Amino acid sequence: MKKLLMIPGPIEFDEKVLAAMSEPTLSHVSPEFIDIFGEALEMMKKVWMCPEGQPFIMAGTGTLAMDMAASNLVERNDRVLVVSTGYFGDRYADMFDRYGADYRILRAEHGRTVDIETIEKELRTRKYKLLSFTHVDTSTAVKVEPEPIGELGQKYNVITILDGVCSVAGEEIRQQEWGIDVVLTASQKAIGVPPGLALLVASGRAMEKFRKRKSPVGNYYADWTNWLPVMQAYENRKPAYFGTPAVNLVAALNISLQQILKEGLENRFVRHKRTGQAFRSAMNELGLKHIPDEGCAANTLSAPRYPQGVSPAAFLGEAGKEGVVIAGGLHPEIRNEYFRVGHMGKVSAEDVITTVAAIEKALGKCGHRFDAGAGVDRVRQLLA
Ligand code: PMP
Repeated sequence: MKKLLMIPGPIEFDEKVLAAMSEPTLSHVSPEFIDIFGEALEMMKKVWMCPEGQPFIMAGTGTLAMDMAASNLVERNDRVLVVSTGYFGDRYADMFDRYGADYRILRAEHGRTVDIETIEKELRTRKYKLLSFTHVDTSTAVKVEPEPIGELGQKYNVITILDGVCSVAGEEIRQQEWGIDVVLTASQKAIGVPPGLALLVASGRAMEKFRKRKSPVGNYYADWTNWLPVMQAYENRKPAYFGTPAVNLVAALNISLQQILKEGLENRFVRHKRTGQAFRSAMNELGLKHIPDEGCAANTLSAPRYPQGVSPAAFLGEAGKEGVVIAGGLHPEIRNEYFRVGHMGKVSAEDVITTVAAIEKALGKCGHRFDAGAGVDRVRQLLA
């Protein structure tokens, strides 16, 4: 039996997107594919709300998208400020370290954000070239508000990088209006395409910083010197080559971006918000608390804490027997204290109800006592 995939990526994908993946593979320099690629680049700028940005589509994962921004924008001894709200923020610090940056981390307590005053104080005290933050850290389900950080980036002339792997096309992002220089993601989450694409849109200011580099980019594959002419060529409907694009994944991306724009970004933001709130509220009905404070809880995934006495392995196994795949904890320091449920992309009210029902069953089997059916009732009422 096919199980419902409710982890925070990869997610359930639309049939038309999957069908695009099984079409005969086109030549990467054929007129048909050049159109598909060019349209995908144009649609990215709309989904990112960054009409003047420079989009990049590359074969790779979200980590490559992070690496692309880091390697192209950082030179040895550049000062970088990392705002970390979990595992992926810490990973970014590791990456900057690899490129020789002089970096500092502002690390939030588990389930919290770093307040904007603390960030501003740091930027006022020391001159930084670049600041990175994770919009939704998938290890804690903490969401950071990007707009005030974008404003600080403009005020202090610091390049801002938003890791949107778990947020783009789910949580509200207005890249250009909010003045954020780089917004990056991967295909397998709210973008709605199987794993394998690294996606990024860079502002004019970021591209200018890249052009003014004094040293060569330390990552051969990710170097924009090689990829920028390719992206520009495809957008101008001309053939170009540096590395063979993931043809079928790009075809699937084209379909998915069309679907996202058809639904409308504002509708999508509202739908994800409603879904996130309904899911968290259903968990509360079962007596579960969450890793993030409600004020900074993500809407693309949730991280409910296990009730006392429930074993992670037993719980996840029981949920699987109910036909729903959910994920365990990820943050190394608190891994066994919580589980994670993704509710982004094409997720329907029915999917969420099925998931809450499976969680109720699994909790019951693991000895947790609660008002049976209360979670399902709650989510039904909120998503009706
Ligand atoms: N950043 C965040 C916020 C993520 O959630 C992930 C993946 N879960 C990554 C980066 C890395 O993406 P990938 O696994 O595709 O390399």
